[in-house]
Amino acid sequence: MANDQAIRRYPVPGTIVKEWIIPAKEYSAFTLSRGQILRFVDIEGKQVPDLVCFNKSDLTEQLNMGNTLLLNKRRELRQGDVLYSVTCNPMMTITGYSNEESYAYGPMCSEELNRIRYGVPGTRNCRDNFAMALAPHGLDRRQIPNAFVPFMRVEVEANGSMEIKEPTSRPGDFYDLRAEMDLLVAVSNCPQERNPCNGFNPTPTGMIIYEAG
Ligand SMILES: [Zn+2]
Repeated sequence: MANDQAIRRYPVPGTIVKEWIIPAKEYSAFTLSRGQILRFVDIEGKQVPDLVCFNKSDLTEQLNMGNTLLLNKRRELRQGDVLYSVTCNPMMTITGYSNEESYAYGPMCSEELNRIRYGVPGTRNCRDNFAMALAPHGLDRRQIPNAFVPFMRVEVEANGSMEIKEPTSRPGDFYDLRAEMDLLVAVSNCPQERNPCNGFNPTPTGMIIYEAG
């Protein structure tokens, strides 16, 4: 499926404001107005986008996945669930998807994690992507909150152990999040290639901002 076919597999229920592609392993930062919906499209399948967000008018109010899990009383978030800030204000609502998998526990791949887990220094990783995406907004790498990750699949066993699995997302699958306040959003198109997170093969992610109606 070609890129433009994949991004249109599920038509948006509204008016497109902006549309672009984040290449494999790259990142993006942008603003989202309250009420606008951000759609991720998995272009080739089995690719996860890591998302963090900040209150646009107070960048110290950031996404907090701990509050999000406690307030939704769920570990696996679903349609209608809300992403909350560090001060428990609603930031984004999950409004729809064609693949319900996501990872909401927070931590993301980093230089340090890749070195410890795989013994490989100098790898491309989500934390560095966020640092580059957010530097122009005056945020440094220690001000990056934990992320929410559509399409990512982590299996938790009955004994509590957990393991990253290959995503089940297919070309064209989408995941929609509506902004509940004016936001600064950053996305890392996860560059991980040493575990099944992206099927060992990072690929592009389609991005659409639209207004419902
Ligand atoms: Zn990553």
